Amino acid sequence: MWKLFDKLRRTPIETIPFDSPPPAAHGARGMPVVNGAVCGGCRQCVAACPTGAITWAEGTWSLDLRRCLFCGACAEVCPNDAITQSNTYALATKDPARLTVAVATTGRCSQEVR
Ligand code: SF4
Ligand code: SF4
Repeated sequence: MWKLFDKLRRTPIETIPFDSPPPAAHGARGMPVVNGAVCGGCRQCVAACPTGAITWAEGTWSLDLRRCLFCGACAEVCPNDAITQSNTYALATKDPARLTVAVATTGRCSQEVR
């Protein structure tokens, strides 16, 4: 048994590099993407998000990808269809700044939530 462990310990770990991540499985959800031209700042997505990943302030829609579950609740409630669920899922990074998405919004929304 010890010989087996010793052999495993000495065997180098092989990693398989890839230039781009494999495509997401059919129907898989990825990060939500907002269209700032039609987002009216009603904040219904903010209220619907179970993790508080979205904020909207002073005309800017922001998403904290460290909190996002890719659940799709924000896209479902948006009255302007401003949010689409992409299939982008490979988001790991050593740079935390890349995990915050900020989009300037210019649209109008009739269903405001305050
Ligand atoms: S996909 Fe879900 S967790 Fe992510 S921002 Fe939308 S509501 Fe929040
Ligand atoms: S218009 Fe859609 S994306 Fe913009 S704040 Fe309202 S629910 Fe969120």
